[in-house]
Amino acid sequence: MEALHNKIREEGIVLSDQVLKVDAFLNHQIDPALMQAIGEEFARRFGGLGINKIVTIEASGIAPAVMTGLCLGVPVIFARKHASLTLTEHLLTASVYSFTKQTESTVAISPRHLQKGDKVLIIDDFLANGRASQALISIIHQAEAEVAGLGIVIEKSFQTGRAQLEEQGYRVESLARVASLAGGEVSFLPS
Ligand code: 5GP
Repeated sequence: MEALHNKIREEGIVLSDQVLKVDAFLNHQIDPALMQAIGEEFARRFGGLGINKIVTIEASGIAPAVMTGLCLGVPVIFARKHASLTLTEHLLTASVYSFTKQTESTVAISPRHLQKGDKVLIIDDFLANGRASQALISIIHQAEAEVAGLGIVIEKSFQTGRAQLEEQGYRVESLARVASLAGGEVSFLPS
């Protein structure tokens, strides 16, 4: 996706060989026009599969997930990271190790929003080692729903997430595939 590649080249900040900061358009300030184009592209790639729900994880997955939900005409559920007083019922939960925060936390979705037979598309901002995706897959399976695929805005292809997900048989569609961040330079694989 050319617009996304250009945005990463122009506004992405390489923090280390492992971490790319994109808070100018995705993780803090959000570029709505880019999010709309991202939603349209995911809808093009995953349209016609009978997907009836989108699942993401707060907070940075929400913008691309909502735009995809708008394009596919389906609701969007975000896994919550923090227990809330209003979440009083039984929850579907999974443990996730955060790549950026380097802490373990629990994410949760109410079973009222995810049911047996749902066909679910997972959307997230980044794919690194796949911990966030695996936690969402676990929650979706606890609900006896089906994972239709994963749509990732930025995949760091030098980390292990995609390989593990593909080994498990999941379809992964990434709009930007970063081959390397070495030397402060972003290089891409074809996506
Ligand atoms: P994973 O769970 O696949 O190891 O890492 C994915 C999660 O960690 C994403 O939800 C994202 O929030 C965060 N993450 C991983 N790598 C990066 C990165 O290079 N930059 C930013 N901003 N977030 C990242």
